This record gives sequence, structure tokens and C-alpha cells, in this order.
Amino acid sequence: MYNKSNYKNLLLELSHLKGVGKKTVNLLKKKKIYNIFDLLWKLPKSYTDRSFSTKIKDLRIGVEQTVNIVPKKYNFPRIRNLPNRVLCTDETGEIDCVFFNSYEGYIKKILPLGKEITISGKIGIFRNKYQITNPKYLSEDASIIKQKHNKYSLTEGISEKLYNKIINQIIDKLPILEEWHSKNIIEKFDNISWNDSIKELHKSENIGKYRKNFYQRLAFDEIFSTFLVNSEIRKKIKKIKKEKKVINLRQQDKIIGDLNFELTDDQNKSLNEINNDLKSSTKMFRLLQGDVGSGKTIVSLLSAINTINSGFQVAMMAPTEILAKQHYKLAKNIFPSEIKIELISGKSEYKKKKDIINRLSLKEIDILFGTHALFQKNIIFNKLGLIIIDEQHKFGVNQRKKLSDKGGDNCDILLMTATPIPRTLTMTIYGDMDLSIIREKPKNRKAVKTYSKLESKVDDVIKFVKKEIELNNQVFWVCPLIEKSKKIDHASAVKKFDFLKKIFPNKVSLLHGKTDVDEKEKILNKFLQNEIKILVSTTIIEVGIDFPNANIIIIENANKFGLSQLHQLRGRVGRGNKDSSCILLFKSNLSENAKKRINILKNSDDGFIISEEDMKIRGFGDILGFKQSGIKNFKLADPIHNEDLFILAEKEIKRLEKSNKDLSKFKPLIKLYDRADIINDIA
Ligand code: ADP
Ligand code: MG
Repeated sequence: MYNKSNYKNLLLELSHLKGVGKKTVNLLKKKKIYNIFDLLWKLPKSYTDRSFSTKIKDLRIGVEQTVNIVPKKYNFPRIRNLPNRVLCTDETGEIDCVFFNSYEGYIKKILPLGKEITISGKIGIFRNKYQITNPKYLSEDASIIKQKHNKYSLTEGISEKLYNKIINQIIDKLPILEEWHSKNIIEKFDNISWNDSIKELHKSENIGKYRKNFYQRLAFDEIFSTFLVNSEIRKKIKKIKKEKKVINLRQQDKIIGDLNFELTDDQNKSLNEINNDLKSSTKMFRLLQGDVGSGKTIVSLLSAINTINSGFQVAMMAPTEILAKQHYKLAKNIFPSEIKIELISGKSEYKKKKDIINRLSLKEIDILFGTHALFQKNIIFNKLGLIIIDEQHKFGVNQRKKLSDKGGDNCDILLMTATPIPRTLTMTIYGDMDLSIIREKPKNRKAVKTYSKLESKVDDVIKFVKKEIELNNQVFWVCPLIEKSKKIDHASAVKKFDFLKKIFPNKVSLLHGKTDVDEKEKILNKFLQNEIKILVSTTIIEVGIDFPNANIIIIENANKFGLSQLHQLRGRVGRGNKDSSCILLFKSNLSENAKKRINILKNSDDGFIISEEDMKIRGFGDILGFKQSGIKNFKLADPIHNEDLFILAEKEIKRLEKSNKDLSKFKPLIKLYDRADIINDIA
């Protein structure tokens, strides 16, 4: 039975609604609207005001208007292609109601002669007489029509009228839910309830009122439910007791002393935070966040050596083989010779693999590098104490949870990402983890000079590249697509390759999405060894790989990229202490807005600032590709504009964590906002 206070009513399928048949259900499914709750977030974009009626003599052509009329005479011509007409009047004039494809019987029923009827629609004119064609709104009951009718961005196949009917039904039957927030919180939103907030949200006059209490409250609900789930996962992880790692810093300090650079303060601070986690009796679940080139690898390797020295093994996973190899080589280079280091790759021979697996189980390997192949079932460590995952910003909460379960209780987890995002987003996406941030760049780093240029001036760019190559420098040339697409006029990497290799024989290689793995690795290695000078590629230049000798990056069709993406690409160069440049090529002159964006990039080399500014201009939607990552977007909340709500939610979560209160009153919130699939305990 329908229970007015049960949140589950909102999770009912759409077929429970009146007027919603299979066809409509399927159309909505295509828009990812599966249940009643999903429909609540489909907001009106504008509205048509049908609440005032106009006398016939005052009607305006081409405008939606409401008229009270009395049908006087039917005119059914019974000739194909000629419409049926009904002559209607009020005391000031005449208007024809025109029907194409409607039966006489039906017309007689809806427009009975002599009875006052209210109609609403766009007014036309034909042979000097007003007419209204197939009026959508027509009723004896004027009150149904004389309202503001919301306009939604319509799903094809569903009329505005049906849409309004569906939404109105839902709003009418909205369950009255018990308040889940504390008094303190709800006061900040003038004590408006969830139920009333939804009602306000759908009122025509409230369209776009983002600062109003109802909107803010609902945005807060959304943020809060996300944070609550994060907090629960975090609590669960914190409960896990592990064997403390006994750390002797001697070897770490010796390695640091032998480096040809000094660690930055932020690197030292992060390293300390990690070491403290290793030493503690609770499992580490930490994110090391730092811009491209900020030096995360060395920090993670130092924590690896500490783990190894306390008698544990370490697994370090990279997104690509070549990056895994680079990390492996670095470890070989800086670790003392008694540390046993191995690399496992998809291409390792069977015999070699078997040998690694065997030695791993005997604890004859201290640290193993590899790609996700590291987590195959048959790879079993003897005493795994730390998993390091590099450059995996596309891991969702679920995957991280699985990861933290892997390796057993004694295994600490360190994730690294070079995706600088505003703090509000970090709280949202990584709220289940502890956080170390490297903001400071290594001291010897020179900012990459950034230029924009018209593509037609490519000859100047070529001259510049020639000079740089003479100085033994290397160049990335980035093109957006592999093959010329007829639809979108992207530059073609293949064509560019052909063009450049004529100018620079034997100095250019091409890398694109279809290059096979072996070939790709060969090419990247050649580039690393400085055997080729120019690498033409699509955006797939591997994340994370360090090319210390590359100091020029040229990016074609630069306006097709987001600023953060451009910044990440730019981060491929300027690792050494040479002067380096990034040249952005554009097809045509930049618009004012585009200039503004590019200036942000030219004036800052701080990825955090860049992403924040970019989001202010472009919205946070899909700036970093999180959409594809399975991380859900907010329906109302906005990490830029609702920063205050994020901070409030964070505070409230901290308060709850301290108070240790029963969280069962949040069950409807969690269930409705669908963040609960990852935790079962609250439910
Ligand atoms: P990322 O944070 O992008 O993973 P890496 O760890 O690959 O960056 O470091 C980029 C380059 O910076 C490497 O060549 C590394 O040796 C160097 N590097 C790291 N820390 C410092 C430092 N404190 N001073 C100078 N160079 C450093
Ligand atoms: Mg890296």
C-alpha cells in the first residue's frame, strides 16, 4: 500500500505512474531516468504562462495565449487534406479551431456546441480570421489550463503536456520524509524540509534560483550523502589493525644524500606523513597528490625502502609497461644492491614469470614493479606490506575499496595522482583517503614558456624546431586525431608525420592509438635514448614517463583541449634545467573567452590554480575525464559555486565521526542518493 512517509516510493519504477506506458519508460531509460527519484532532477528550463485569458479581439498572432470560447458551428469538409474546423466565438470576435487528423466524433466531444471551453495555444491567422491549430490545451475546466506550464528540455517522443502531467503527479504524491539532518544544519536552510524543497525546485517562478534555501538544502543533501559514504569507508579502513612497521631511516637518508638534488619541503613533509602511517598500527590508505613533475616517484620509492627494511615486500603498479620499467630502473639505480628488485611485464617469458612468482612466494624479491598484471591471482606475495599505485586518478571508490582489501590487513596503500583538482572535488572523490599534497615544484625547475600561434605560421615553428634540434633538444608534436575526419577538421597526425619527416629525415617518429604495444615501446625507448628528435603523437603520450631531454611541446588545435589537459601535456617537458617551451597552435584567431583561458595557462604553472580557473569558465562537468570513471556527477551541487556547502558538509561529518552517533536516520538519504552500493552497514 502507498505509505506517505516511505522513501521507497521514490525508488519505484516509472511504470507506476499514470500515463506512463512502456514507450515512455523506454524513452526515459535512454536518458538514464529509471525511477521516480531520477525524474525529480529533471528541472524545468522555462515556462509558458497560460494563466491569463485574452479576448479574441486582443489576440496577438504567433503568441501562446489562452482564450475562453464557445463552439458555434462545425465545418467538416470530408475532402482529403482539408482540415476539420470549428467556428468559435466570444463576445468580441471569432476564431477557428482547426484539426488535422482528428475524427469528427472526437471533435464534437471535446468542443460541444454552446458550451464554454478554455483553450490555449499559439494563435495563427488564415484568410483574415484567427485560428488555433490542434490546440494542445483544451478543457471545460479552466483551472487545469490557467497555470504556468513548465518547459523541460524534452525527451524526444514525450510531449510537454505529458511531461508536466508526470512531474505534477510525482510532486503531488511526494512522500513526507523524516528530517535526517541535525537542527543546527537545517536552520542554515531556514528549516525547509526535503519535501518542500523539491516542490519549490519545480515551481516555474523558481527556475534558476540557485542561492535560495531550497536549492542549497538539496545541493547540501547531495554533498553530504557522498561525504557520509566516504566517511563510512574510511572508518572501516581505520578499524583494520595491522602489524606496525619498524622503520630505520638510515638507508632512506643515505639514498636522499646520494641524490643529485634536494627534496622539496613538500616532498619531505609527504614522506614523513607516509612514514608515520607505516609505523602506526592502522592501515594506511593515503593519496599522494602533486602536479606533473612535482617528484612523487622518489617519495614513494623512499617509503618503499622503509617498508622493505622493516621486513615486508612492496608492489608498485604503473598504468603502462614503459612507466613501470622507468620506475624499476630508477629503483635499481638508487636502492642499495642487496635489495632484490624485479619487473614483471605482460611480455615476460613464461619461464621468467614462473621464476618471479616462485621467488616472490619465498620472499626472495623485495619489490616488484609492473602494470595491473601485478594483481593477477597467481601472483602471491610472501609478506606484502605496501602497494603503491601510480597515476590512477580514474579509480573509482569501489575499485579503491577492493584494492584496500587486497594484500591483506598488513598491507598499506599509497595512491599517486597528478590530477590537480580543487579541494572540494578532492574531498568528494578521495574523501575516503588521507591526503598528502606536493604543491611546491623542485627548485631547479624553470617555468615552461607558453606561446600561442596561428597554424598558418607553422613555418616559424619549423624554424624554431630546427634550431632546438641543432642544440640536441627534443620535441613533442601533439595532434588531436589519427586520421582526418570529414566531419571535424582535426589535424591529422599521420599527415603531420609525413610532412615533418620530409623536413627532418630520420629524426621523426609517429605514435598513435593504433600503434601496437611493442612498437610503441620501441618508439618511446628510441625517444628516451635521444635517437629520434621529434615524436609526433596523438594525446596518448604516456602519463608519468619522464623525458628529461624533451623541452619543446607543440600542441595543434589547442582549443580542442581543456586547460588542465593542456597543462598536463605541457608537463611532459621542462623536467631538466633547460629552457623549455610549449607552443599552442590555433586554426583561427582566438575569441575573447578563449584568450582569457589561454592567458591563465600562460601566467601560471600551478595545476591546481589552472584547473580551478578552468572550472570557473567551463564548469566542472568533465574537465578531467571523471565522467568516464564511473564517479557520479552531482545533480545540483557545484564544486566551484557551492564551496561553502562542501565545507559545511565536511564539518558536519567530522562532528558526526566524533560523536559516534547512530547513523540509521540517514538511511533514506543514502539509499535515495544511491551512494550506498559501496557500503552495506548503514542500510
Ligand atoms: P611526478 O610527480 O610527475 O611523478 P617525477 O617523480 O617523475 O614527477 O619527477 C619528475 C622529475 O623531477 C624526475 O626527473 C625527478 O628525478 C625530478 N625530481 C624529483 N624531485 C626533485 C627535486 N626535489 N629537485 C629536483 N628534481 C627533482
Ligand atoms: Mg609520476
